[in-house]
Amino acid sequence: MRSLFLWAVALCYLFSCQSEQEESVIRQGEVPTAVLDQLNALGFNTIDIEVKKIETGYIVEGDILLTEDQIMHLSPGKLAPTEEHYHTDNLVTGLPRAVSVFVNMPQLYRDATDIALARYNAENLNLTFQRVGSSAGADIVISASPFFYFFFGILGSAGFPTANGDPFNEILLTRQFYDNVSNINGLATTIAHEIGHCIGFRHTDFMDRSFSCGGSPSNEGDGGVGANFIPGTPAGPDPGSWMLACGNTELDRPFTNNDQIALSFLY
Ligand SMILES: [Zn+2]
Repeated sequence: MRSLFLWAVALCYLFSCQSEQEESVIRQGEVPTAVLDQLNALGFNTIDIEVKKIETGYIVEGDILLTEDQIMHLSPGKLAPTEEHYHTDNLVTGLPRAVSVFVNMPQLYRDATDIALARYNAENLNLTFQRVGSSAGADIVISASPFFYFFFGILGSAGFPTANGDPFNEILLTRQFYDNVSNINGLATTIAHEIGHCIGFRHTDFMDRSFSCGGSPSNEGDGGVGANFIPGTPAGPDPGSWMLACGNTELDRPFTNNDQIALSFLY
């Protein structure tokens, strides 16, 4: 991974794409202090996985895209979470509801998305998913991420549901990390994870992301977008949850019993 990164840096210097990057990407050190202060005040962990500024906003917690406006207008959540399955204040409404997903990527990604959607549909939720052949009217569009995601080691991104009760409408995946996966179920797990964010799931190793990411124990905080504990899910980290903060691109993590409890509680 590190050698790939250095290779990308070297290539960029070779081809003088530096100025283009400067227009669209700002390094961690250049994230405005006010934004970092606000993220810290809201309880986000900005240390274990650094905040990354991109042209559309900030990548927080590794894969969650928040705009500056969202960050600056969030208020600290009411509860200090101590357990594991959490959701945001905003959820998808208008249930029962069918969510349409368009995959604007190669066949591998369409196949993996079909596996991910089948997993959700097998849970008999009031939220069902179908893959559609056009972006017109699609609730969620899955596309390749822009080049600087790879440059900064961002595997992909999604966001949280809107205040109007719609799922977040865009999942971006960095093809350099996934094009050559040998286990399509690992890619399906990644897509199911990003869809999880789009419908309001936060990371399950909320209080201690070192559980899945390695490193020292740390508290992720509630991120100010509402960290609401889902009853019936246990204390302590859930080793196989599809909503762990960090994963492995090849590792299949189908829904655990606790994941299923959380899904059926919300939807
Ligand atoms: Zn995530």
